[in-house]
Amino acid sequence: MSCFEIIDPAFGTFVLGNAPVKKLATGFDWVEGPVWFGDAQCLLFSDIPNNKIMRWSPEQGISVFRAPSNYANGHTRDRQGRLISCEHGTRRVTRTEYDGSITVIADRFNGKPLNSPNDVVVKSDGTIWFSDPHYGIMTNYEGFAAEQENPCVVYRVTPETAAIEVMIDDMNCPNGLAFSPDESLLYVADTGRMHGSDPQHIRVYDCASTGRPKGGRVFHKIDPGVADGIRVDSEGNLWSSAADGVHCLAPDGHLMGKILVPELVSNICFGGRAKHELYITATTSLYRVTLNRKGNQTP
Ligand code: MG
Repeated sequence: MSCFEIIDPAFGTFVLGNAPVKKLATGFDWVEGPVWFGDAQCLLFSDIPNNKIMRWSPEQGISVFRAPSNYANGHTRDRQGRLISCEHGTRRVTRTEYDGSITVIADRFNGKPLNSPNDVVVKSDGTIWFSDPHYGIMTNYEGFAAEQENPCVVYRVTPETAAIEVMIDDMNCPNGLAFSPDESLLYVADTGRMHGSDPQHIRVYDCASTGRPKGGRVFHKIDPGVADGIRVDSEGNLWSSAADGVHCLAPDGHLMGKILVPELVSNICFGGRAKHELYITATTSLYRVTLNRKGNQTP
């Protein structure tokens, strides 16, 4: 059975018919936040309920990178290649320096603790953009249950000054986020408060004029499931997590095709020597598929 569902014929050129969706590691509880380190030839990802950041490499397989991880969720790298992490347990965003020490990038807004930073991207100007829904403080499963003291918004932090600003305040529960290749557009997944009538869709904001997101029209509604983690490829197609795998959306928002994965997908990232491999975190397992596309994310 094919691992791919081709809806737009162009998607047939994005995938390789004989490339498997390969399970690389399993036995986790809820994996999230994959980030590729080409210089170290490894992938880091979170196993949130088990309070660990895991490391996988083609040579050495799976190992623990950091435990406890403060219930880390999403990760990315900054323009200098340093690891940027969202932590539920400490309700903060951190940077891991080259020597392994940890610098707090953001942990409060308006004098109150953040909720539970979920996912993060770094723009070419070095600013760090992250979503702050309340999932990590709702229960003790992925962090510590606590009162919500700030709204669920998207923040921008300027690391040099530690200035933190609200960039998007009209979403229910912002989650994954990704810029278009020219950074004129910002895509943000809204996973909602898990109530039946809540918005659960990907919106796209225009950032071209001032660098601040404007508009926020509905771009696509993932079905089945919801968009959690999202990534953009070098041609501007958006790849999104879904209940049945990974969906590929054209820049106009139409569904081009699917990579079918046997577990609920949380997040994805491009990696490998040509950024042509898609790493997929899906519930209890890490998967990888080689594509005829390459990722846009840095580095
Ligand atoms: Mg997420």
